[in-house]
Amino acid sequence: MKKLLCIAISMLCIAIATVIPTGSAETVAEPISVTETETTTVTETETTTVIETTTEPPTKTMTVVATAYCSCVKCCGVYAKNRPNGVVYTASGAIAKANHTIAVDTKVIPFGTTVLIDGKKYVAEDTGSAVKGNKIDIYFDSHEQALEWGRQIVEIEVL
Ligand SMILES: [Zn+2]
Repeated sequence: MKKLLCIAISMLCIAIATVIPTGSAETVAEPISVTETETTTVTETETTTVIETTTEPPTKTMTVVATAYCSCVKCCGVYAKNRPNGVVYTASGAIAKANHTIAVDTKVIPFGTTVLIDGKKYVAEDTGSAVKGNKIDIYFDSHEQALEWGRQIVEIEVL
């Protein structure tokens, strides 16, 4: 009985030894001939693709209350009175620009972060005493435009 098992094992070894080299060699040239090797190759490729997907930079979606502001006294209070050349500097030091600048709570969204609002790119550059937590304040050129935006609940993408 033991002897028979040994023969069976050695026969299996021979079988494996003969299958592997011809199998791998044929996969490159003719993938149709060895079905087993082909299936293994496909699974390996799929695993690699999954890893690549997870290494892509993650995009975070957030629901926030978006208010609007401009450079006027109503919106900026004392800061509006301290602009020697009319240049509106943000808390980060960058110059405020409409369609670009947003005020954030830096604990939630750090300075320099690009945020997508309605598919449009904005950059976190300013802060505000009322901008805390899941809240953003969008900078506009005029107070009228800021009023027009009002207060909206929007879904933003943090890049
Ligand atoms: Zn204003």
